[in-house]
Amino acid sequence: VSPRIYFDHSATTPLDPRVLAAMGPHLAERFGNPSSLYQEGREARQAVERARGQVADLLGADPAEIVFTASGTEADNLALLGAVSAAGGGGHVIVSAIEHPAILETVKHLEKTGVAVSLLPVDREGVAEVAALGALLRPDTRLVSVMAANNVTGVLQPVAELSRLTGAHGAIFHTDAVQAAGKIPLEVRCLPVDLLSLSAHKLHGPKGVGALYVRKGTRLSPIVHGGGQERGLRSATENVAGIVGFGEAAALAKRDLVDEVARLVTLREHLWEGVKALVPNAYLAGHPFRRLPGHLCLGFSGQENEAIKLLLALDEAGVAVSSGSACSASHAGQPSHVLQAMGFDPIRARGSLRVTLGRFSTKDEVDHFLDILPGAVASLRPAASHAGFGAPR
Ligand code: PLP
Repeated sequence: VSPRIYFDHSATTPLDPRVLAAMGPHLAERFGNPSSLYQEGREARQAVERARGQVADLLGADPAEIVFTASGTEADNLALLGAVSAAGGGGHVIVSAIEHPAILETVKHLEKTGVAVSLLPVDREGVAEVAALGALLRPDTRLVSVMAANNVTGVLQPVAELSRLTGAHGAIFHTDAVQAAGKIPLEVRCLPVDLLSLSAHKLHGPKGVGALYVRKGTRLSPIVHGGGQERGLRSATENVAGIVGFGEAAALAKRDLVDEVARLVTLREHLWEGVKALVPNAYLAGHPFRRLPGHLCLGFSGQENEAIKLLLALDEAGVAVSSGSACSASHAGQPSHVLQAMGFDPIRARGSLRVTLGRFSTKDEVDHFLDILPGAVASLRPAASHAGFGAPR
């Protein structure tokens, strides 16, 4: 039996064995509460603060600017709800049309509390339109949130330009960097963002740990109230093992970042060139190179209705990939709001395949995928001729 191939690193990543090794003692004998004053507590505190330094280092931030949370979703909620609340509630926020539900559902909630919400459009290649931001900013705009990299297309967003414009307007800028962190360089000394969300499980760390970078001086209210941990911004006894794992994962990602970007871009281009050569009706959704190093969002012209079948056929053949429409099974088969925002019609927006490579992906795996993909695509309903936007290129 050949081992399975995992090409869904945007959904989650395998825990790096070095991360697991770092976490182990904190799940066993090193069980202290970081708030306790005796030795066991002091050791736990030391472990948490070391990890805070490692996560800060990934961003070039000060450790005091890192707030640990229980997920990327919670970091996004803290950013949006916390910034609006600290500004007195109400007012106006702007988010891009292609945000993850952790942002879009949170602004829906804010709308119910009387906050006005505007969506920043994206172009046909999935890039947020910087020029449109100026027209959307209002005197009462409290916050603008645009992700660093999109989870469906992998397209990198113009966060530097958008955050500069937002800052000049006097509003807070947040970026959801859950997909980008550890995969592309992110330096908060060069990037004028005020708030930035991270999630450990997207960079070979454990699930259920996230962080929010909060630039010094940014006004933020907590959304979880209690014992005052994390400088009062996120009460609850710290998930020490998870935080230690996050720290180790961040340190590993930072150490190998430059080499890993080059390796994954080469692998991704090998994959895309192979797909183009072997499957004539294949097309790429999103900007051709302004994208995460290991990320491809593929469509098969005329066969978009069959994307879930294709995913299951590949699963059967031992390869895990995602449907581009959503990363959760409950939304499988629904048109993707991201692809629709890019101008795809609802049928095309339902039918993409997200292939995302990671640290342990190899050229052999890509070659094996290229061996089985054409047969899997051919087994679907024959492609209808399909002209217009999104046609093969
Ligand atoms: N933001 C983006 C862009 C994501 O891709 C994800 C996860 O898929 C999240 C937020 C949520 O992160 P978490 O799974 O840690 O809650």
